[in-house]
Amino acid sequence: MKVDFVKHSLDETLLKCPQCGFEHGMHIVSVSVLRGSDKTTVTSKGTSVTQEKNPTRGVIVFLGYHCEDGHAGEIFFKFHKGSVYVEHKSLPPPKDIDDIWRS
Ligand SMILES: [Zn+2]
Repeated sequence: MKVDFVKHSLDETLLKCPQCGFEHGMHIVSVSVLRGSDKTTVTSKGTSVTQEKNPTRGVIVFLGYHCEDGHAGEIFFKFHKGSVYVEHKSLPPPKDIDDIWRS
């Protein structure tokens, strides 16, 4: 799994699917922030706060996505001593694409 981008224009880059590399079928389905044990998630249905074990001392930012080739997952960002670590976790594909901006 590789989180990567492709140049689109002078000022823009496109996020590639970490699983297949496709850059024109990516949909953001959620944004979450885990701070302490509170995980705040924003989806097209609204905002929720759930409890989750935090393996770090800091904050983790999650970006949930769905790819039109049937892939789904979370790209997440961890921070430690001035460095940002980017990781990826595959998830089962949802039945429907539910972009974060749809309601
Ligand atoms: Zn894909």
